[in-house]
Amino acid sequence: MSGGATPGQEAPLSVEEARARAMAAMRPLSHERVSLTEAHGRVLAEEVHARADIPPHDNSAMDGFALRAADVAGTEASLAIIGEVAAGHVAERALAAGEAFRIMTGAPIPEGADAVVMVEHTEGDGARVRVTRPVQVGDHIRRAGEDVRAGQVILWPGVTLGPAELGVLASQQRAQLRVARRPIVAILSTGDELRDLDQPLGPGAIAETNSYALAALVREAGGEPRRLPLVRDDRKLLRAAIEQARSADAIVSTGGVSVGEHDHVKAVLDELGAQWSFWRVDMKPGKPLAVARLGDTPYYGLPGNPVSAMVSFLLFVRPSLRKAQGCAVPFDLPLVRATLSAPLKSKSDRRSYLRARVSAATDGTLQVAPMPRQGSHVLTSMIGANGLIVLDPGTHALEPGTPVSVHLLAPV
Ligand code: AMP
Ligand code: MG
Repeated sequence: MSGGATPGQEAPLSVEEARARAMAAMRPLSHERVSLTEAHGRVLAEEVHARADIPPHDNSAMDGFALRAADVAGTEASLAIIGEVAAGHVAERALAAGEAFRIMTGAPIPEGADAVVMVEHTEGDGARVRVTRPVQVGDHIRRAGEDVRAGQVILWPGVTLGPAELGVLASQQRAQLRVARRPIVAILSTGDELRDLDQPLGPGAIAETNSYALAALVREAGGEPRRLPLVRDDRKLLRAAIEQARSADAIVSTGGVSVGEHDHVKAVLDELGAQWSFWRVDMKPGKPLAVARLGDTPYYGLPGNPVSAMVSFLLFVRPSLRKAQGCAVPFDLPLVRATLSAPLKSKSDRRSYLRARVSAATDGTLQVAPMPRQGSHVLTSMIGANGLIVLDPGTHALEPGTPVSVHLLAPV
């Protein structure tokens, strides 16, 4: 945490500096043991060594015949079929010269055999088999340890457990794993105008939306959201709510963080003795962003406009929550180049993040179309938006075909 004093009039931070400081506000989370069936999406906190070779034994890659390649060097050679080996079974005896076992995919290679011939390359009458193609030693045999060797490191701390990781862990019969605890994130929405789902709106009121969108974003970042009751624009009530939220691993609030008469977040954080990190970022949307620490608890005060709240969460809070879980790549929204498929006009003295739809063109290159309405209150501009076009400060009038930089928010 730098400084710690009440925020002054220092220049807004660059996005990169703000992200580094936001991530630094959060301490690493402790670890816990979970079962493999509950580990999806969790961040691994241990190095996993293979206990066993995978595959555990040489086995057949095909349905066919296990035999000795030397026995079928002459094309007319025919072999006696002495039995069958199915997956999960072993041959009753070793194979001798001039013999073949019928064998199924995954079945262990009988002792004495050194190749498998697929059934499509044989002719036979049930008692004897003749091979119709040349055979090499090792054909269609999957070797023990070909995939994984016992003792080898197969997974590292910082890896997010997805389908492939879970499958590999199951291959080692790992029923329990050490993972990072999920951060509990208190979500506080502030504003006199806000009403919850079941409250009548009345004059001047609007339905509260941020806490629902943010709760989903918290879950997607590996955290556990705790939505707190809505807080009015009242210093005492806000203070009480923030004090209640302090037991969480992080507090995320929206609204009341700019410089209006009724914006109390900064003043209350001061009252509570917060250590300030910063309170403004040089970007649009989402210039006001208050990051501080209340004792051990990081506080992320996001702006109230629904789009600003979501974009600020993605650029600053998501990487912070991921870093606390030990993710190898905390900021995981890749910056790619894409070609504009529609004209783009934009003017700002700050770096802009425009909601956009990225798609793959028929030639495989990326195309991007900005959402038609870019107001930070236009929440529907986030529906279907899988990218944020990043523009330098200035006036832009870009034609279709112009390459631009885009943060990918979701698969294309
Ligand atoms: P503020 O940051 O408090 O000045 O709020 C900026 C704008 O966002 C205002 O139009 C608010 O009504 C709106 N707003 C603030 N909080 C929320 C919320 N939780 N849900 C929906 N809109 C909000
Ligand atoms: Mg407000």
